[in-house]
Amino acid sequence: MELREQTQSAAGTEGLDPSLAVAYTVAERQAHAEGVPLSITSGHRTYEQQQWLWNDGLATYGSPEEARRWVLPPEESTHVSGHAIDVGPQVGAQWLENNGYRWGLCRTFDNEWWHFELVTAPGAPCPPRAPDASLR
Ligand SMILES: [Zn+2]
Repeated sequence: MELREQTQSAAGTEGLDPSLAVAYTVAERQAHAEGVPLSITSGHRTYEQQQWLWNDGLATYGSPEEARRWVLPPEESTHVSGHAIDVGPQVGAQWLENNGYRWGLCRTFDNEWWHFELVTAPGAPCPPRAPDASLR
C-alpha cells in the first residue's frame, strides 16, 4: 500500500514522457510537503488540441510571427510530444523555478512563468531561458 502511494503519478502527468512525469511527481510532492500549492494546469496535449490552440492564437495575435511567441503549431509543440508542463498557481511556479533543477525541471521561456521542461540533469543548473517560444 505504501509503495503504491510512493509510485502514484501526480495528477495531469498522463501522456507525458515518463522521465518528466516522474521528475514532476517528486517535485510536486516536495512542494506540497513544504506547504506550497503546485499542480499541472496543462500537460500532454493531443495534436488536435494544439491545432485548436494554434488557430486560436493566430486569431488572437493576428500573425504567425506574433502567435508563435505564445503558442506553437502542433508539429513543434513540446506539449504534444509530452515534454512540457504548464503549472500553477504562480506561487507554486515560482517555487518550481527556484527548486525544479533538483529534479532537472526548468522554466524555459522568459514570457511564460508557467511553462517547464526537463532540460537539465538533476542538480545541475538550468540553461539560460529563451525570450519566448518563437526564439528557441
Ligand atoms: Zn506550456
